[in-house]
Amino acid sequence: MRDIFEIIDRPQNFPYCPGCGHTTIDMVLARAIFELGLKNEDFVIVSDIGCVGLVDKLFRVHTVHTLHGRSTAVAAGIKMVDEVLFDNKLKVVVMIGDGGSTIGLLHLVEAAKINVDITVLIHNNFLYGMTGGQHSGLTPKDFKTSTTLNGNPFEPLKIIDILKNSGATFYARTYSQDPELKEIIKEALLHRGFAVVEILELCTGYATRYNEIKGSGLKNMLDNLGGKVKVKEKKESFGEIYKNKFFDGKGEVEFKGIEIDKRVSLKEPLKIVIAGSAGEGVQLAASLLCYSSILAGLNATQKNDNPVTVGSGFSVSEVIISERNIKYSGIEKPNYLIITSIDGFKRVKNLLNLSENVIIDETLTENKSYFRIPARRYLSVRGGPNYFSIGFLFGKFSPFESEIFEKAILKYGKSKEEVLKVFKEGVSLGKSYGVQSPA
Ligand code: SF4
Repeated sequence: MRDIFEIIDRPQNFPYCPGCGHTTIDMVLARAIFELGLKNEDFVIVSDIGCVGLVDKLFRVHTVHTLHGRSTAVAAGIKMVDEVLFDNKLKVVVMIGDGGSTIGLLHLVEAAKINVDITVLIHNNFLYGMTGGQHSGLTPKDFKTSTTLNGNPFEPLKIIDILKNSGATFYARTYSQDPELKEIIKEALLHRGFAVVEILELCTGYATRYNEIKGSGLKNMLDNLGGKVKVKEKKESFGEIYKNKFFDGKGEVEFKGIEIDKRVSLKEPLKIVIAGSAGEGVQLAASLLCYSSILAGLNATQKNDNPVTVGSGFSVSEVIISERNIKYSGIEKPNYLIITSIDGFKRVKNLLNLSENVIIDETLTENKSYFRIPARRYLSVRGGPNYFSIGFLFGKFSPFESEIFEKAILKYGKSKEEVLKVFKEGVSLGKSYGVQSPA
């Protein structure tokens, strides 16, 4: 805490141009933090691109310097995790200028909308200082900048009005020399929910070069923007809403998980690739394979692949089932390669020679070394070719009892009765080939 306080009375320590409003705001913020008794280690400053981003080195607290406009999103992420999963003690402050707030406007709108518990200090000096004094979305009408030498012909964004209408629960607009600025910042820091303070200030590097303006003129500029504002409302924060919806009353995550039916033993992980056509239920069938594995007390991962169009072309799922933790979810050499359509065949044909066992629809190949089965005859049932093929795998290779997969169908499947019938026919065909346990 002493370290924060040390910077307050030493403007020479600041990296900004003499008279820059950033210095004033940093000093006022430091005093506010000190007076509130906040601990250095519980404080996070998230800064943006621009001169305002030089703040990182000035405060001995946690700091994150982000890409342009992304500071609010990063801050929101930090606070969401702190509020929902940890002990909710971090104060997260976004230090943002004209560029960060207009380039990152949607992040501000979204954070206000869901009432994330962060404080945003918008340093509005009416232009882009760091890159040469160009006009910004916040430049007032008739204000001169390096790119509007005859005066900006357009009205500025009223950013506080935008955020108020987006759901901000604390919003204030003032100027850097306002004697009440420190108290406003303190209130914003103590507010539970999204708090934003727009602070009008002067860029002495450019604003004063092109305009007849001094610090005393900021009050008039504030009036032109609608005057000083400070409004506080009470509403549940993001974390409160989230915890109420997804946690039990004790702050513990309420897992609505899968109850293990019985624990089966599996010597080696099973790697199964199912390849078919989009819209034919490949990924749902693969999910049921994962569910059934978890019911059997095993670990399972599923990695899907499909074109961006989702509903056309191939659809592939890679499923790994293992007694041990699975650290990588990709499959290079499948134990079982199931192919149920020509789309799937084209997509995974490079795996044919790498797979220990290929279970494939009989219309797709003449190759006798594969298990050629009539999977597509079951196309009238959604996912039928996949369930028939998985049934065949269970009947022939018996990774674990097929009844566990049946339970998964009944618990998590769709068109349960029809799917169950198709699966059982697959099991029956597999058994007729003779039962063989995988290695
Ligand atoms: S260029 Fe402007 S905003 Fe940047 S440090 Fe100098 S006065 Fe401040």
